[in-house]
Amino acid sequence: MLIDFHAHIYQDDAADKVIGRMEEYYGVRRRHDATLSSLLKSIGRAGFDRAVVLPVLTKPEHISLNHWYGGLGESSGGVLVPFGGIHPDNSPDELDLFPELGLRGMKLQPNAQRFYPDDPRMFPIYEKAQALGLMVVFHAGNEAAGPPAEFSRPDRFLPVLSSFPKLTVILTHLGGYKAWDKVQPLFPFKNACFDTAYLPGKIDEELFLDLVERIGINRVLFGTDFPFRDHGEELAWVERVLGHKDANVLHENAVRLLKL
Ligand SMILES: [Zn+2]
Repeated sequence: MLIDFHAHIYQDDAADKVIGRMEEYYGVRRRHDATLSSLLKSIGRAGFDRAVVLPVLTKPEHISLNHWYGGLGESSGGVLVPFGGIHPDNSPDELDLFPELGLRGMKLQPNAQRFYPDDPRMFPIYEKAQALGLMVVFHAGNEAAGPPAEFSRPDRFLPVLSSFPKLTVILTHLGGYKAWDKVQPLFPFKNACFDTAYLPGKIDEELFLDLVERIGINRVLFGTDFPFRDHGEELAWVERVLGHKDANVLHENAVRLLKL
């Protein structure tokens, strides 16, 4: 079984516009359309069995999109594992709906949503997520282009990890995209997992192996960052670089977290 723990899609009528804005703002370039059918095709071509979908809500009123995301599990025949989104200005009570909507957790993007992860106003959201057994996926580190990203600096996650030891926190891009000299303090927290999204070709292979070794292979998850990356190409890179250790990263760790 192959599982991608990091993909982005949008409703058909919005996908092109949203990705266009992200290309402009973050310096990323799409490899595919960010639609449901395009994701299912990319997964199918590369032989994947599941993909976790991570929405980012840039406005509080987008909270209603969680109904669409929640329905993806069923409309994809169980292939997609949807997470929801929440905006810092939404009530933490919005999370009460997540279990019945079929949402396994939430994605938070500090730069896009303009908040510091260790801002006390976020703590009621983490508290509620922890109580409901929902996971939190954070964008971590810099963006593909632009100045260093202060909102998602790796040390900003330390108070979250220490204050909510039962909250499963997934820090993308091995804890901080292009901030890998600052991620080591995150590794001792057993409630933290780390994904490989957007790393192939962007990180030195020796550094990648060293970070995975220091985190521990049981807390590293494969992610693509679809539609900005292609499933087949990311898979080939991770298989080549990790060798026999890839089974943990490509499925076992995700199966354990998602209780598949
Ligand atoms: Zn992403």
